[in-house]
Amino acid sequence: MYVTHLKCSKCGRIYKLEEKPVMCKSGDLGRLDIYYDYNAIANSVKKEDLAKRPFYMWRYREFLPVPDEKYIVSLGEGGTPLIKASRLAEKLNLRNLYLKDETRNPTGSFKDRAMSVAVSMAKYFGFKRAVIASSGNAAAALAAYGAKAGIEVYAFVPDFAGYGKIAQLLYYNAKVFKVRWTEAEDPTVKMMRILSEKYGFYPSPSFGVFNPYQIEGPKTISMEIVEQLNWQIPDQVFVPTGAASLLTGIFNGFRDWNETGWINGYPRLVSVQPEGNHPFVRAWRERADPDKIKPWEKPPETIATGLEDTFPWDGDAGLRALYKTNGYGVVVSDNEIIEAMKMLAGLEGIFAEPSGAAGLAGLVKAIENKMVDRDETIVVLVTGHGLKDPDIVKKTAGDAPLINPIEEEFFKAAREYYKIQL
Ligand SMILES: *Cc1c(COP(=O)(O)O)cnc(C)c1O
Repeated sequence: MYVTHLKCSKCGRIYKLEEKPVMCKSGDLGRLDIYYDYNAIANSVKKEDLAKRPFYMWRYREFLPVPDEKYIVSLGEGGTPLIKASRLAEKLNLRNLYLKDETRNPTGSFKDRAMSVAVSMAKYFGFKRAVIASSGNAAAALAAYGAKAGIEVYAFVPDFAGYGKIAQLLYYNAKVFKVRWTEAEDPTVKMMRILSEKYGFYPSPSFGVFNPYQIEGPKTISMEIVEQLNWQIPDQVFVPTGAASLLTGIFNGFRDWNETGWINGYPRLVSVQPEGNHPFVRAWRERADPDKIKPWEKPPETIATGLEDTFPWDGDAGLRALYKTNGYGVVVSDNEIIEAMKMLAGLEGIFAEPSGAAGLAGLVKAIENKMVDRDETIVVLVTGHGLKDPDIVKKTAGDAPLINPIEEEFFKAAREYYKIQL
């Protein structure tokens, strides 16, 4: 166990892990940032030792806060492939393009890494009930790990959450509530806070402010990328952004290994948000003070339902990560996201949901803006599976022509529908 202490990002108050802190007692909504003894880690494990361990998230257990292996709740998350995308690279005129395929996680998104850590900590702390505010993926992940651990999960999702996500939640036996969203303030967060603050449920959304443990999970994405690139640091990493917790985790993974002395340097981190909700990229464009990010003024309007946080809860840390790595932000339209989904599936065989493909849409935009050199090593995170959101898939994929089993009808439909001459 290498956690030395936790420290509130707002008031600086210090906690020991044994005190079982989740949120700062001062009520200032600071995040309890977790500090590790990197010297002790470097003395007990060599980076070469990692290769001997199974390739999944807990391979990096020294960098995770769970005090004993007996508390680990795992469904085999992480260990996802880093795919060299040669057809896509050719189309975009790049030489070294990689896709980190997070759709392969147990419930279909990278949120499994976060919730595996969160639920392991809930088990250590002895909680019986957990509550989450989520557009769907974090809730599905929490529900799956809660099921595995025997912890009851209450999930508040926005009324527009994709049905695929809700169905998944119900099967995992979560108690799901669709909450009407009429004002800018996220109503799911409001409900989650009532249950955690008044009724003692374990708050477990994928926002560091309400649960500092889960944000440690996505660090392991960066660690895997470095190992998969043979200890080379990529030049740029494209990260779809909602609450900026993923972005913060990605930065922290590189930070941990810099601190341990295993790598030297950072990639430029690139945050991608949809036009219809981009408070975080707006703050970056304004070179805002990280502690003064303004929330989006109205309900989000985007098909990327995983990126609809009107307030980026971990935007403070995320913005510092962009400043520190000379990173930047890009904004993409829903049509550009759909184009990216088609490219990922049609050129590389990876089917992503809109939020999952937004990173690629961001790369296309960054190339147009001359932010990318063709020789650079580029990693795009593909964060969630296409089957998560059947409603959107149905609206954007079109339909197949219906024919009788007759040769002529096949050729006619191929010509008229797909414009192919065989
Ligand atoms: C949650 C989510 C994101 C964004 O992560 P944040 O931590 O909210 O910035 C991106 N893609 C998918 C598929 C997600 O579920």
